[in-house]
Amino acid sequence: EVQRNRYRRFGLLGYPLGHSLSPLIHQRIMEIVGIPGEYRLYPLKPEELASDLPKLLASLDGLNCTIPYKESIIPYLQGCAPCAAAYGAVNTVHGRVGYNTDGIGFAACEVPLKGRSVCILGAGGGARVFALEAVRAGAREISILARTPQRAEALVQDVKAHGYSNILALGLEAGPVNCDVCLNGTPVGMWPKVRGLPAENQELKVGEGVFDGIYNPTATRFLLQAKGQGIWAKGGLQMLFEQALAAQKIWNPEVDFQAWSSELAALKGGLAREVLRQSPIKLVLSGFMGSGKSTVGSALAKAVALPFVDLDESIVQVAGQTIPEIFQTQGEAYFRKLERGVFLAELKRPETLVLAAGGGTLVQEGMEDILGESRALVIYLDVSLPTAIKRVGRDQGRPMLGSGLAETEALYVSRRPSYESYADLRVPAEGDLAQIVNEIMSAFEWQG
Ligand code: NAP
Repeated sequence: EVQRNRYRRFGLLGYPLGHSLSPLIHQRIMEIVGIPGEYRLYPLKPEELASDLPKLLASLDGLNCTIPYKESIIPYLQGCAPCAAAYGAVNTVHGRVGYNTDGIGFAACEVPLKGRSVCILGAGGGARVFALEAVRAGAREISILARTPQRAEALVQDVKAHGYSNILALGLEAGPVNCDVCLNGTPVGMWPKVRGLPAENQELKVGEGVFDGIYNPTATRFLLQAKGQGIWAKGGLQMLFEQALAAQKIWNPEVDFQAWSSELAALKGGLAREVLRQSPIKLVLSGFMGSGKSTVGSALAKAVALPFVDLDESIVQVAGQTIPEIFQTQGEAYFRKLERGVFLAELKRPETLVLAAGGGTLVQEGMEDILGESRALVIYLDVSLPTAIKRVGRDQGRPMLGSGLAETEALYVSRRPSYESYADLRVPAEGDLAQIVNEIMSAFEWQG
């Protein structure tokens, strides 16, 4: 009991350590299972390592280790457990022995790899974990698609040294790449540069599903686009949580973590909200009038406790006129300029928002640049023309509705390509409101 109640000190070594979720995850796990103690960040600069790391190792009960020290920490240790030796990288230290729990974290995500053709993007530490886990799980073949050919080739040789030969390195100039499962091991798409897409200029055809090691945002553009294509898509948050839990199990072998499994599962679900709070993004709802942008937007915002902004309402507030009045007195060109300015201002707000765009907002010229520089992810609510017309009726507040059906249909047809090209996530929006909101929440791995 004395041992059980001893105050413990854990921490994370790395540099830099800006927006780390680790203290929160570890602190909450420790609270749940009743381990008294703390988990702090230790951002040591490379030139401080030799003098400060030995002191840190002597004073802590356990240490996690991240970029750039996963390999350079090894000479400071007495040895490595097999899990770390296999990766040549350490992310957890206990009693001067190095471990690696990233593989455990990835395996816990249960990505289907057995018998699959697997394409891994990147050739760094995360990619190495994916490759060795794909071998362990019985992947049929593995290709490494990375921008630095030497790094890709080094990873291939390393995997071959583990007795697996069906692996090859592909340069970014490779022709079309076909695979069953794609694993993103690059940081492309990570907050704050959420508009990044890995392998953007590559013809990549994925048949079954994608996994992204990135956990911030909880769903990258890469994942959202995969979901929209009807294949499965999973983000890195669960992997992050599971590797942290595995480290706690190494540090505290006497604790029965199994007894707290439902509380720990709830913690895992709640982390997605914390990511949103720490790292603001804009969730932009787009689609034709009547697609449900305002209704779905406000329901979604309520479900995840985020502020909701209806762009049309913001415009009315700024202009001091209703939208039909602006159209009548100043004309459409004036309205579009105003809309663009208000949209930009909302995108620049410092907090996470659900933002319902107008039907014509994303159709405007120059939108690619505006979105490209933003931290926005676009959710396209796709409805058929008959549904849109049925929902909107003859709403007097919608000047773009036009005078007749033919005009509305022409507008629908002309706007659709823009909606589709900017869609990060395409959601069929004919059905029930709760179902549409749930689909968006599950794409982001959020729970209410
Ligand atoms: P790393 O060792 O630095 O490797 C990054 C890889 O991505 C390298 O191959 C690098 O290529 C490539 N890359 C970087 N920027 C690129 C760009 N703009 N275009 C194309 N390729 C680019 O990093 P890591 O430790 O593997 O981490 C990579 C990602 O995985 C991070 O987002 C990290 O958060 C994530 N991760 C998540 C977990 C988790 O628990 N969820 C665990 C591990 C890693 P070069 O060699 O040419 O620079």
